[in-house]
Amino acid sequence: MIPATRDEQRRLLELQRVDTTIRQLEHRRTNLDEQKALDDNADTLRRVAAEYSSSSEELDGLQRRQKHLEEDIGQVEGRRRSEEGRMYSGLINSDRELEALRGEISALRSRKNQLEDQLLEVMERTEELDSLVATLRLRHSELTAAVERLTAARDAAAVGIDAELETARVRRVAATEGMSPEVVTVYDDLRPRKGGIAVAALEGRTCGGCRLDLTATEMEEAKERSARGLTRCEQCDRILVLA
Ligand SMILES: [Zn+2]
Repeated sequence: MIPATRDEQRRLLELQRVDTTIRQLEHRRTNLDEQKALDDNADTLRRVAAEYSSSSEELDGLQRRQKHLEEDIGQVEGRRRSEEGRMYSGLINSDRELEALRGEISALRSRKNQLEDQLLEVMERTEELDSLVATLRLRHSELTAAVERLTAARDAAAVGIDAELETARVRRVAATEGMSPEVVTVYDDLRPRKGGIAVAALEGRTCGGCRLDLTATEMEEAKERSARGLTRCEQCDRILVLA
């Protein structure tokens, strides 16, 4: 049996109350409504930021492609004009050469048509993306503002809980002061195995931990043992503190 004075046994109950308070405060701290709202918005912001970035990249690519196509069209058009100029210059007399030139001009025309079709597709996609990127930009800035606002709200809510936690931790230190380290160790080892409740008051004949009644014999033993040290509930193994 672990020796413990009556006073130490009573202080174990106080220690238990403080630890229960700390556990509840820590639970509230990690489950703040403000924290949940913040997490939700931060998740959405990450998704929107990724989409915004990939859409912007695609738009940049399209704008480069559009510029290249316009340059190519200009070059093809320039060549066609110059070939037409040669054809109508009257300097070419050979039928074979004229025929070749006509073929060349026709090929340049259809090349230009192809390029213009491609340009049209690029411009249509650019228009779609322009509007998507604008929507995403707006959504991104709204979400960024919301995350900032919610972070401040979460911090404000947490400040109150942190202050209560600080007070509870000071109370915990005070509760263990002067107590036998052996008693505190038994309590600390037992607590995680007993759902956070290692000490129970005996209420009449009922264990405050498991709500089961002690038999008459167990009552006698508990009284006798608690005069000298820690007594445990036969049913749930918690430390029993007699009034
Ligand atoms: Zn019990």
